Parts: sequence; structure tokens; C-alpha cells
Amino acid sequence: MTNRAPLPPEISRRRTFAIIAHPDAGKTTLTEKFLLFGGAIQMAGQVRAKGEARRTRSDFLKMEQDRGISVSASAMSFDFRQYRFNLVDTPGHSDFSEDTYRTLTAVDAAIMVIDGAKGVESQTRKLFEVCRLRDLPILTFCNKMDREARDTFEIIDEIQENLAIDVTPASWPIGSGRDFVGAYDLLHDRLEIMDRADRNKIAESIQISGVDDPKLAEHIPADLLQKFHEELEMARELLPAFDRAAFLNGSMTPIWFGSAINSFGVKELMDGIGEFGPEPEPQKAAERQVDPAEPEVTGFVFKVQANMDPKHRDRVAFVRLASGHFERGMKLFHVRSKKPMSITNPVLFLAADRELAEEAWAGDIIGIPNHGQLRIGDALTEGESLRFTGIPSFAPELLQTIRALDPMKAKHLEKALTQFAEEGAAKVFKPMIGSGYIVGVVGALQFDVLASRIELEYSLPVRFEGSNFVSARWISGDKAEIEKLVAVNKGHIAHDSDGDLVFLTRLQWDIDRVLRDYPGVKLTATKEMM
Ligand code: GDP
Repeated sequence: MTNRAPLPPEISRRRTFAIIAHPDAGKTTLTEKFLLFGGAIQMAGQVRAKGEARRTRSDFLKMEQDRGISVSASAMSFDFRQYRFNLVDTPGHSDFSEDTYRTLTAVDAAIMVIDGAKGVESQTRKLFEVCRLRDLPILTFCNKMDREARDTFEIIDEIQENLAIDVTPASWPIGSGRDFVGAYDLLHDRLEIMDRADRNKIAESIQISGVDDPKLAEHIPADLLQKFHEELEMARELLPAFDRAAFLNGSMTPIWFGSAINSFGVKELMDGIGEFGPEPEPQKAAERQVDPAEPEVTGFVFKVQANMDPKHRDRVAFVRLASGHFERGMKLFHVRSKKPMSITNPVLFLAADRELAEEAWAGDIIGIPNHGQLRIGDALTEGESLRFTGIPSFAPELLQTIRALDPMKAKHLEKALTQFAEEGAAKVFKPMIGSGYIVGVVGALQFDVLASRIELEYSLPVRFEGSNFVSARWISGDKAEIEKLVAVNKGHIAHDSDGDLVFLTRLQWDIDRVLRDYPGVKLTATKEMM
């Protein structure tokens, strides 16, 4: 990365990232403060509903129905200092890991939020592993320092041990809980003091000439100051210093200590993203690597969201621009269908409002309203046939048969299922034998969400029933052998929504048997979307 030519200023100022956290760690609160400091919302509390709303299953469904909330949360852009931040939301619920995975293919970095009292929790860990697969740079925010938190070294140790990543302190907390004074910014030699009176105020920042500056004693009680000095000395001995290259290759994370609800430490974290980056990264395509500085526009769809506007049955495809300078009205080449598409009404997501995007640059996320032409994994270019890689489709782990309660409405069911398959919300299989569809998901809650959405968006009550099958594998390999396999095992064969062949399985034994009897056939658990 260091030997790449400098990017044009409009591109190099872009920071495209996601926040990963265990539920309740403070992701929503932090997002809200980002938007507040980014000038995108006037008052904290506007995206509040989301954090509260997903506490229970029914509230969660309600949230899904209240499209307004998920719209603003899918991708948000705002300016901070000279930087343009694009924050892409990761779905919070663990049942949506596949969606999360795809979201993380669209960002260049992630912020990991942990609760200072709880440390690394299960969901943090899972999401972190996904980031690691892509060597994403990670910035850590240790939240809720206004409450009793764990010992600072203990927190750092836990991250290092649990996630096998080097941790370097970007700030050091002074006191905790009721005695929390603030934090020392180790990267800029500043003392940040938390204001408990006004939660939306940016902390007072006092320039300090170094940790021995007598000015510190004016703001920190003597016992805390002594502890701070001791801890810092230990930290210098025990913990690695910040190393930008290690941060960028994902092997080191800088950690900030703060309190999102008190707006404390948030600005320093934002400064960190701005200062250390990364800038928009090159994207991998099957044919070649695409550099953000290339003049021609390229991008890929990583998410499709339907019925964002209940009045129009439109879908919005979220596109990560991989290169170039996009202008509204451009005609782009849709690689999969080999057809040109005029992009006349692209949207940028500025906090709660959708806004027409007049222009966008590599690194940005734009939304393209369409009627279903754009699917997850699709590439848009100025003519080149590119296929971006790394956006997988996972084999579902739970399969159920779906039936419309009103058999006359089977056509509507088909339409609804096609839509969800395109959104990537579920896998839909049409078995060769019998009627009906088999729906596959990664987590059980998705069945409930789907049933509720089909009823709401298509006025179609449906029922899920157990299926004989537990998993599915995509079939590839030798043509003649595939034909033989299909002819002999019709009861196991289905087509997915792209028309590709899948083998439905009951047991691992089914898979072993096929592999033994048909050595030319391959069964895979993921299908790369294209
Ligand atoms: P999410 O589930 O990760 O999005 O978490 P939320 O942002 O909804 O926060 C979960 C709870 O923690 C809410 O009740 C917040 O008000 C609270 N919270 C968030 N940040 C802080 C903080 O810095 N200090 C304290 N004491 N509470 C916080």
C-alpha cells in the first residue's frame, strides 16, 4: 500500500467503514454521535429508536417493518474535518451473519466497540473473525468508561489473547466509574476531560507538553495522577507502540477509551480514522485488481433492499464504487446482463434522508433504485467485463418448506420469494419433484422475519413447515456425471433462484455418498455470486 501512487484528493479523503459490536455495547449511540459531530443530525436521539427497538423479537420485526429506520441505517455519509466518512451498517442480530459478511466486503476498515465492563463478547468475536478473513484494519473503542470498567491492562490483555491481535493504546483512561476524569491522548499529548453536565458537548481538550507536564495536576486528583503515571510506565514497557503498517494489515489495533453517551472519546476516534485511514483500498476482481484511482467508474452491488418506500415496489441496490468519479446520469455497463443502464436517480444516504447523488467517488456507497435487475455481486463498469470476487453466498443451515395459506395465491408467493432471494435475505429452492418451495436461511429468526414481511408487503399469510432436508450444496463438475446424478436422485435435486442446480441433503452421509459414487461431481457449500 505504501508504494502505491497517491490517490486524487477527493478519493484519498474518503473513509468507508463499519462498526462491529456485541448488542448493547453502544454501536447505536456511537453512530449517533458520529452523525452529530459530522453535522448530519442536529440533536442526538434521532437514531435512538433503533437501539431500543430491537430488544425483543416483536420489536425487532416492527423495526424491520419501519423501513425508514433501516434505510437511514444501511449506509450513511457525513463530513468530518477534511474527511468524508461513509458508515455502512452491519445488521446487529446474530442470525444475519451472511448479510454482515457481505457488508464487510464493502468497507475498508471496521470499528470494534466493546463494553469496558464486559470486554470481548461472543458477537464481537464472531464479527472480528469475519474482519480477519479480509485482514481489515480495526480501530477499537472501549465504551462506557463512565461506569465501573475493568482494569485497563485486563481489557487490553483480553483483546490480545482472545482475538490474537496486537493492541496499542491510543488513549489512556484516567479513573473509572464515578471517578472517571477523562483520558490522555497518547498520540497528540492532550488531556481530554469529560463533561458530565452536557452529554452532547465535545470534551474539553487541554494541550499538554508531555506526561510530566505540571498542568496535569491541575485537572487530575493526586491519587489518580500517580496511578496514571504508574500505569503509563508499565504500558510503555509492555505494550507495542502504534505502527501504521501493522494497523493497516490488520495485525494491530489502536484502542481509545471513552463514553459514547457522553460524547467522550468519539472525536479522537474520528480523528484516528481520518488520520490513519485507510483510504479506499483496491478491490479484487477475477480478471485483475481494480485501483480506486483508475479514471473509469466501476463498482459492485453488496446489498439489495426491497420495499424501502412502501408506495413503490422499488428496490435499492447498494453499490460500493471501486474506482473512478461517478456523475449522475452516467450510463454504466451492467456486466451480468451485458446491457447498459442509465443511472439517473442514484441516492446518497445522508443520515435520515435520502438525497440524489450528483456525484460520487471511489470508496463511496450509492443506492441505485431499480426493479430487480441489480443483484448482489453484480458489477457495473464503463464497458469492461469485470467480476468482483469475494462476495460469497453461503449454504443455508436451516431448510423449511413454505406454503401460502391461500393456495390461489401461489403466484404471489413465487414473486415474494424471488424478491427475497435477490435481496439475499434467504435461499429459495424449487425442488424438481413436488410443488412448493424450500426456503433456506442461516438463522432461525429469519423464518419469522420472512413470514412477517411476506404478509406485510404482499398481504399473503404463509406457513413454514419442516422439511426432510437440512442443508444444500451447489453442484458443479463433469456434465455427464451431473446428468446421471440428477436422473437417479430427483428427490434430492432443486434449482436455486438463479437456476443453478443444488443437491438437498439430509445427512453428511448423503454428501459422502455422492462424492464416492460420482467422482467427477463437486458439491460446494458456498457459491460465489456474480
Ligand atoms: P447497541 O445495541 O450496541 O446499538 O447499543 P446502544 O447504543 O443501543 O446502547 C446500549 C445501552 O447502553 C443504551 O441503554 C445506552 O444508553 C447505553 N450506553 C451507550 N453508551 C454508553 C456509555 O458511554 N455509558 C453508559 N453508561 N451507557 C451507555
